[in-house]
Amino acid sequence: MVSIAEYNAKTRTIPLSSAPDGLDRCSKEAFLYLHPLPTIRCTKMNSTKRPPIQFGNLPDFENTEQAFAHLNSGQLKKAELLFSTVGNPTLVKLGKVMMNIALALRIPVGWAIRPTVYSHFCGGETIAGCEATISTLASNQVNTILDYSAEGKDSELEWDRTQQEIMRAIKATEGDDRHAFSVFKVSGLASTALLEKIGTCLRPLENLESATISLNETEQAAWQRVKNRVFDLCAQSAAIGKPVFIDAEESWIQPTIDALAESAMRTWNVEQTIVYNTVQLYRLDRLAYIQSLTKTAATEGFKIGVKLVRGAYMEKERERAFGLGYASPIQPDKAATDRDFNAALEWCIAHLENIALCAGSHNAQSNALLCQKMDELGIDRDDERIWFAQLLGMSDPISFNLARSNYRVAKYVPYGPIKETIPYLIRRAEENTSVSGQTSRELELIRRENTRRIRESKKLKK
Ligand SMILES: Cc1cc2nc3c(=O)[nH]c(=O)nc-3n(C[C@H](O)[C@H](O)[C@H](O)COP(=O)(O)OP(=O)(O)OC[C@H]3O[C@@H](n4cnc5c(N)ncnc54)[C@H](O)[C@@H]3O)c2cc1C
Repeated sequence: MVSIAEYNAKTRTIPLSSAPDGLDRCSKEAFLYLHPLPTIRCTKMNSTKRPPIQFGNLPDFENTEQAFAHLNSGQLKKAELLFSTVGNPTLVKLGKVMMNIALALRIPVGWAIRPTVYSHFCGGETIAGCEATISTLASNQVNTILDYSAEGKDSELEWDRTQQEIMRAIKATEGDDRHAFSVFKVSGLASTALLEKIGTCLRPLENLESATISLNETEQAAWQRVKNRVFDLCAQSAAIGKPVFIDAEESWIQPTIDALAESAMRTWNVEQTIVYNTVQLYRLDRLAYIQSLTKTAATEGFKIGVKLVRGAYMEKERERAFGLGYASPIQPDKAATDRDFNAALEWCIAHLENIALCAGSHNAQSNALLCQKMDELGIDRDDERIWFAQLLGMSDPISFNLARSNYRVAKYVPYGPIKETIPYLIRRAEENTSVSGQTSRELELIRRENTRRIRESKKLKK
């Protein structure tokens, strides 16, 4: 078994030329992405004949048979078509413009979206409508995280409605072991201008109760409503004993989200870990944040719940920083984000006496690193303090192979009326363009499974 230090050193420096011959550049990158360890044997092979990742009995993320067992051949073909389409940046840009026009002009788009991107990335329009997805995941040992996907609300009435729907989602998880966590975004419950303003009054890790926040009377009342919405959701989660994630968002509203999450952790994370804050390691300051939070929690006597992610708003962050003339809070490059993400995993796993973590990632290397580290430290794969999570319709080879290897795995299952989920779907399509490289990973494995099934059925016919 390689040490973590060796693993880190090798994974960051493997040259493209060390991938097997006979692969195109894209497949070579996909190969190196999935085979980072020095134990790979680079014998000549084609893209459908690759060895599994080789470290002990850790999960094989290349096992497409297990990964896609929950999809019949028709569904798999549909997934292939979908990822081929979203892999085309021009089509995605065009689709985004057309969606935004259709939304502005109130042209119905459900007929185009429902059978395609929506059915792939969302569970249904309501909680009940997600039942088929929830039970398919559960029968493959993957848990659900119901994610109400309404975004861009801007009135007290809408924030109240969103909070009520999230409350329903939380209550729906009670006594149902198929649900691992609940989740919400603070921006769905509050004005972003208010969140931003409050953030400017807060010092890092300052206790919200004692912070001096200067607001006028109207803002004060609005802020109280925001706190009530957030804390009522946390209190309900605590009452039913099911943990809740607070998603991370843009850096200019994150100080307020952090303060709310920390305050909720102080209240509800004393005996159990109910509230999980999210930490985006594409930010320069976040590894230090986790380390400081660990000290604060130890001193004040509460437990930390943390969902580690790389971060979803990189372009927006950089554009705003550039436009307003301040230093970008984002890491200089992908390697720096990867380094901090993996370091954060290692930090959390080394402080499990006080930290429960969820790795929210589609990155095979980081997931493999966490598995390897757990095995090295002799941590039970079923330990309830360590979870892996992916989004519905993405990285099935990671989710389902982890679950088959007895790790705790959950998928975000976004739901909501089709119109409401469009911003989420556009983000998924953009994340999956070939520019960002996600598609090559997904598509390559889907194609490989299609090929495998065709070969199997030919064998059976003989
Ligand atoms: C279960 C789950 C929950 C999530 N919750 C949140 C959340 O609450 N908040 C949130 O913001 N995101 C969230 N995400 C999205 C997440 O932050 C990532 O955008 C997404 O998962 C891609 O990162 P990755 O770890 O899967 O892998 P990869 O594909 O290896 O990494 C891609 C990520 O690396 C970073 N990156 C890429 N290029 C560069 C560069 N040039 N310089 C610096 N960094 C770069 C970006 O963050 C990019 O998204 C969640 C994802 C999952 C799976």
